[in-house]
Amino acid sequence: MTEYQKLQELILSKPSRIVILSHRNPDGDAIGSSIGLCLFLQKFMHTVHIIFPSEYPLSFSYLKNSEDIVIYDIEAEHAQNLVAQAEIIFCLDFNDLDRIDKLGVSVAENIKAKKILIDHHLFPGNFPDLCFHDVESSSTCELVFEVIEKMGYFSKIDPMIGEALFTGIITDTGSFKYSTRAQTYEIASKLKSIGVDDYFLQDKIFNSLTHKQLSLLGYCLYKRMKVIEDTNGAYIYLTKEDYKRYAIGRGDTEGIVNYLLMMPNIKIAALISEQPSIIKISLRSKGDINVQEMATKYFNGGGHKNASGGGIYGKLDDIIDRFEQEVKRLNK
Ligand code: 5GP
Ligand code: MN
Repeated sequence: MTEYQKLQELILSKPSRIVILSHRNPDGDAIGSSIGLCLFLQKFMHTVHIIFPSEYPLSFSYLKNSEDIVIYDIEAEHAQNLVAQAEIIFCLDFNDLDRIDKLGVSVAENIKAKKILIDHHLFPGNFPDLCFHDVESSSTCELVFEVIEKMGYFSKIDPMIGEALFTGIITDTGSFKYSTRAQTYEIASKLKSIGVDDYFLQDKIFNSLTHKQLSLLGYCLYKRMKVIEDTNGAYIYLTKEDYKRYAIGRGDTEGIVNYLLMMPNIKIAALISEQPSIIKISLRSKGDINVQEMATKYFNGGGHKNASGGGIYGKLDDIIDRFEQEVKRLNK
């Protein structure tokens, strides 16, 4: 029996209590894949709840039923109860339980539930009973589409499900600029053919900045950008004082790191931000340069070859220094 057949059997056996989980600071792929899968599973009479550790950007509230998502940071007990009572737990767009904080403990404690991982990050953990994992996939949304299609349920993908899945494909590929493969375009084509309005989605996703966010981008590029001399690396840093002065909130720095890669010689980029307790680093690279290794080795993180992140305790200057040294070493 293939993994697809096993999942199909599970979905068809009886209506179940299902929980879908994704990672902290959910992005378009986390939200899109969770909502797409949720709407699909509801067609089989299951009771489905989506839980995220922290809030999602309001720009994604065009997605159907996004207002029903349970946020652990806001309703911890409710979230924990849902996980404890779940018969099936889907883990989407993250590779191991330590990525979802305390919710991960609740998942591990529910030993009766079947656990299913659908993800495209490097190095998945060994907790799932069923695993749909492919680092070559553009996005978890692409994988959810593939899982549904391979089970023979393409016809159940309606425009609402399609819109959710298309969202994650757009966001995780930077609007089809990277991480694509032939299949990514085939899926986009199939979704468009069932009525997904890609123009509407592109507008919702990319023309969604607030005045404050656009000003912050200007500040970062004008005052906080550094190119590391004689290397292919650059970074932007934000201090605690910047956070206070500009009232920078969660999600306000999303996407800023990518601007550094608009310089043709820059192949490694970082956004290093001094948050209340930790220093958060977002890493991006081009081509064969692997920032996942750097994120794991030096910044207590992980992710993908060309997009990773991490968070560590320490002084901002020391973290900046570590990044600079590592870029210089890679340039030797
Ligand atoms: P971002 O820089 O947009 O926050 O994250 C980019 C990628 O790195 C995402 O795929 C995300 O899963 C991964 N990532 C970000 N922060 C962390 C972290 O603290 N730990 C791990 N393991 N991965 C991270
Ligand atoms: Mn993803």
